[in-house]
Amino acid sequence: MRAVSLLLGSLLFVGLVHAAEPAEPATKPAAASDHGAKPGSVAAAIKEVNQPVKPPSVIKEPPMSGAERTLARDAAQREEELGVRLKASLARLEKANIAARQAAQRPRAVPRPRVVPAEPVVMMPHATHWDYEGENGPLQWGRINPAWSQCESGKRQSPIDIRDGIRVDLEPIGIDYKPARFSVLDNGHTIQVNLGAGNTITVGGKMYELVQFHFHRPSEERINGRSFSMVVHLVHKNADGKLAVIAAMITDGAASPLVQTIWNNLPLEKNEATSSSMTIDMNQMLPVQREYYTYMGSLTSPPCVEGVLWLVMKEPIQLSAQQMAIFARLYPMNARPIQPGSGRLIKESN
Ligand SMILES: [Zn+2]
Repeated sequence: MRAVSLLLGSLLFVGLVHAAEPAEPATKPAAASDHGAKPGSVAAAIKEVNQPVKPPSVIKEPPMSGAERTLARDAAQREEELGVRLKASLARLEKANIAARQAAQRPRAVPRPRVVPAEPVVMMPHATHWDYEGENGPLQWGRINPAWSQCESGKRQSPIDIRDGIRVDLEPIGIDYKPARFSVLDNGHTIQVNLGAGNTITVGGKMYELVQFHFHRPSEERINGRSFSMVVHLVHKNADGKLAVIAAMITDGAASPLVQTIWNNLPLEKNEATSSSMTIDMNQMLPVQREYYTYMGSLTSPPCVEGVLWLVMKEPIQLSAQQMAIFARLYPMNARPIQPGSGRLIKESN
């Protein structure tokens, strides 16, 4: 009786275990075949159980011989081993059941609503501090944060030394700037001026809106090897999110009323934009002559994203020495070094 019930238990259990753990090696049917049943044959086991069993009182057990006693001892030992194995399997199954119940009771993570940042923000637990020199300087940018890898591995990076351009009849940039409200931000890397909507350029049949402009000292780009005192970058974005940046070199000269308005509104704290009630006309930030160089490059600060259309004015604009000195107090050096041209095509207005 004990052997039979154990056999049934083991067969049913083998079925259960195999259903729950498909990867379990098939060791259990071997245990069943020790008892003379077909491996995995539950029907055979049930048939065996259903056969009438004579009451023990009717069975007359003849006295055992020495050989029979050995056989009986071996059978008892096998039963005991099987019992141990079954116990271990049961414990495993119980553990799996508890884990499954716990998993079912665990509250499901509710997806948070996606927040779309206005500026590219890196949402990763990596370092985000970068600088223009020292251990977080330009040569390290690509290693500080994986999202900035293009700073190191990119093949079309900016700034470059603009030379050997192909002289062609470049279409004039369709500039449509009008007086706009603004706010001034010291973002820790430069002075940046954010603009309200309405200032656009059209180039290559696409319209881009002026989003912000900012300054570097000295100029990041060079023209035929020449560096300038400063440069202003006017960052535009089109409906597809593509960027077009107008760069205007700055030399010492006459004071700029527009830049004076910006310096007048410099914020006292970093990373806190100061809104002004005045307006600025960005036409004043461009030279009279609008001939330009153009090439494909990248942002010149992390994340160094490529696919940026650069439009570099040939004629510089001017700031007074005093206006230059104000910026130099805040940012004496905030220019990325020149990047390899890598055979990029540069076009320039005739
Ligand atoms: Zn810039």
